[in-house]
Amino acid sequence: MTIKNVAVIGAGVMGQGVAYQFAKYDYDITLVDISEEILENAQKNIRNIERLDKLLHKSTSKVNALDKISCTTNLNAVSGADFIIENVTEHIPLKETLYQELKDIVPDKALLAVNTSAVSITRLASFLKHPQQVMGIHFMNPVHLKPTVEVIRGYHTTPQTIDTTLELLRSVQMSGVVVNDYPGFISNRVLMLTVNEAIFALQDGVATVPDIDKIFKECFGHKMGPLETADLIGLDTILYTLDVLFDSYNDTKFRPAPLLKKMVDAGLHGRKNGEGFYKYN
Ligand code: NAD
Repeated sequence: MTIKNVAVIGAGVMGQGVAYQFAKYDYDITLVDISEEILENAQKNIRNIERLDKLLHKSTSKVNALDKISCTTNLNAVSGADFIIENVTEHIPLKETLYQELKDIVPDKALLAVNTSAVSITRLASFLKHPQQVMGIHFMNPVHLKPTVEVIRGYHTTPQTIDTTLELLRSVQMSGVVVNDYPGFISNRVLMLTVNEAIFALQDGVATVPDIDKIFKECFGHKMGPLETADLIGLDTILYTLDVLFDSYNDTKFRPAPLLKKMVDAGLHGRKNGEGFYKYN
């Protein structure tokens, strides 16, 4: 199967990174979101990602990413895609409504990747005509600096769908670890518990924000502590993901820390809007 046109739905943190990575390797991208303002902001951020990629990470790509990306608020534009990557907000009713709309838009031959932190791939695939052509790709953030991703096999996903997806990922210098579909897969099932427990520890006054992170970095050799990681992912996304895990497993170990809820209500969403556990700029 030849893939040339890639549609990226959702132009937030992940959609911007995914659109950039595929544009960099010369795919034609259709980037979809719900407002012109969001798309303009996404273009600005993609320009910045590209500038830093060339400056700091010595990217030698000759492509000007924005030349390869057309932005639109019209979901029907994905009907021209060979491969669709959905990156909308981690909110089950919102994702489900989108998939109901996509049912009559996704071309028969196209493959569709769900980029999600925890939502069931099998459930979202059930809204589409060809669930065997749906898989999860759990990209990491920032996408262009995290080349290994989880590829999630839904109940009906065929080996051919997985093989094509892995081949596509290789074409943009990425690789996938294939896992089965259970909410949170491996990464977030484990990571969200750690991040949430770090927030509970902060709430209990056990240690300060920098000291909690320092323990993970200096005692365990992690590159980032759990609170820095939460800021990078987005505290709203962390909260939504914990809610999804809580609902999916009916297990109280995933109940979100009240401090996390309070910070999200207060508008502290982490790096993407300038303040979370730390302040940015
Ligand atoms: P985000 O909040 O930054 O962006 C979500 C975007 O989706 C927003 O721009 C929003 O306007 C758009 N959107 C909402 N409804 C839409 C619709 N109907 N049509 C088109 N666009 C729509 O979120 P994000 O961090 O980019 O996360 C996106 C997905 O990727 C989530 O499912 C999340 O769990 C997953 N994910 C996030 C991370 C991370 O580190 N942030 C990592 C891996 C996976």
